[in-house]
Formats: sequence, structure tokens, C-alpha cells
Amino acid sequence: MKWPIIDLHCDLTGYLAWIEGSTALDEDIIGCAIPHLQSGRVRLQTMAFFTPTEPDSSAFTLKQAHLFREVLLQGSDVFTLVKPKELERQVLQENRIAIVSAIENASGLCDEGEPLANAFLRLEKIIELAGPLLYIGLTHVDENRFSGGNFTPGIGLKPDGEELLRYLNGRRIAVDLAHTSDAAAFDLLTFIDKNSLDIPIIASHSNFRSVYDNPRNLPNELVQEVVRRGGLIGINFLKKFVHPEKPEVLLEHILYGLEQAPQALAFGADFFQESGMMEGGESYFHPEHRNATKYQSILQELEAQVSTQELEAISYGNALRFMQQLWK
Ligand SMILES: [Zn+2]
Repeated sequence: MKWPIIDLHCDLTGYLAWIEGSTALDEDIIGCAIPHLQSGRVRLQTMAFFTPTEPDSSAFTLKQAHLFREVLLQGSDVFTLVKPKELERQVLQENRIAIVSAIENASGLCDEGEPLANAFLRLEKIIELAGPLLYIGLTHVDENRFSGGNFTPGIGLKPDGEELLRYLNGRRIAVDLAHTSDAAAFDLLTFIDKNSLDIPIIASHSNFRSVYDNPRNLPNELVQEVVRRGGLIGINFLKKFVHPEKPEVLLEHILYGLEQAPQALAFGADFFQESGMMEGGESYFHPEHRNATKYQSILQELEAQVSTQELEAISYGNALRFMQQLWK
């Protein structure tokens, strides 16, 4: 039996925007190519618009919003836009793969030097093209005008980040902790609470620091914050966040997540284009986790250790409930 899958994070649009001549069918290059999604029974895939923090970052994100709409939705009959009021039908009955957009790095809304007001105009433009948005992350790994990132551990939330949070109040778009520094994550949670902002919190593609110590993985205190706020944590398949040498540690992350955050655990595999990116042609993923067909083998491996209810929760149940709440 194959479980329906909801996944919280992939970089397909970044791949399409970046590589000339690329298509969503390139199954040897990207783990979330259409054939993998279909044979892995992915029913709802989040398309995160990724950009590094660099000049013209906002143009790169807008390009991805156009690709989302014009190539993925209008240019194929494989995908359909997520429908907030019909989520359960889309996940359990629809044959097409529902897609929802998200923003990975708020530098995609606004370059470093321009007026902040442009960020809000672009956000509305992106929603018009590719909405509804599931989440926005403030940074990628480096710091930007909004906040510190994973690789700038001491740098917290900045005034522009606070303004962005105020703008997101009540907008039914989650904020993603996957790439914020710990300092920024705690700052933004404090800021949200102090100002009574209505902003859901998730970690879209993050594993657990207690299982494998890496600044991209969540410390337990943040895991508990996500749980307390009714959020989601998407398990990341990248080997440098699972364990560089031991693929079996992925199951340890999942079992730890079921213990600490049973209502929050989901998938956020983080498939992105791999061609020529790592020295020596080595993959970013262990072979066992390399593409979207692998959700099913991972769930199968878990069968001996966890209940059917837990398998359902991880594969789609938790993410479905979160989205139903978010957009109710
Ligand atoms: Zn990422």
C-alpha cells in the first residue's frame, strides 16, 4: 500500500529558473521530478521559491512565481493549484498533484538596499500569481536585512524582520524557522508573543539537533516551541542534515520526532537539482533517500516500529490538519 504524501519543501522552481533547458521531467537531476512525485504518490507538494541573498534576488523569485503558474500549472495537466477549502479531497481523491507556493528567504521579496515597502508590493504580486502561500522564511543560511541565518548564529531578528512580521499578522501565511539562526528564531517568537501577532510557525525542512548536531537542525527548545504553537516540522533528507555517513539515522530523526512532536511531524525532503554541484559527482542524498519514491520505502521501514495512525500522521495527516486550520 502506498500512503498519500504531503511534502513541505522542494526547490523545483529554483531549478527551472536557474538551469537553461531544464524541465520538471528531469528525473536524473532532481528528486522531485514528475515521475518520482507520481510513483511516490505525492499528492501535495510545496514549491519553495528559493533565492540566495544577492543583487536581483527579488527578480529571481518573481521568475519562479511565473514558472509556477505558467509552466507547472498552465503548461501541464500533472499539477493543480492547492484549494484551501478542498484539501482533503485533493490529497485523498484527486489524481493531479496539488502544488502550493512558499518563499524560502525574504530576500526574494526585496533586495538589500531598496525601500522595504517594495517587499510588501512584491509579496502581493507573488500571491496574485502563485498564491496562496504556505510560508515565508526570513533568510537562507546567511544573514540579510531581515534576520540572521543558520551560519550567523549570534545574529537575531532585525527591524526590517519585525516590520515583515507585523505585515504578516493575520495573513494566514506561516513563518518558517528552517533557515533562521537560533537567536533569530527566539527573537521572532518573542516578538510575535509580545505584540500578540497571529502568525503560525513551522520548520519546513529541518531535522533534530539532539539526533544529529548541525546548525540546520532544530534544538529541542525550538522543537517544543513549534509544538506549542501547533506548527509542523518537515523531515529533511539531505545527508548532511540526516547524518553524512549513516542513512539509517533518518529513521532515528523520525522516531525522535514522533516522541517529541507527534502532531507536528511531516516530510520536507528538500529535493533540489544535483547536477555538477558537489565535487566528485557525489550526491547530496543517500541513495535510500534520493528521490520522491523513497517516502514509501521509508514509511515501510517504519511499519515494524510505529502505529498505522503514526504513519498516516507523518505521510499526510499532520500537514493536512495544519493547512485546514491555517486556511479555515
Ligand atoms: Zn533550504
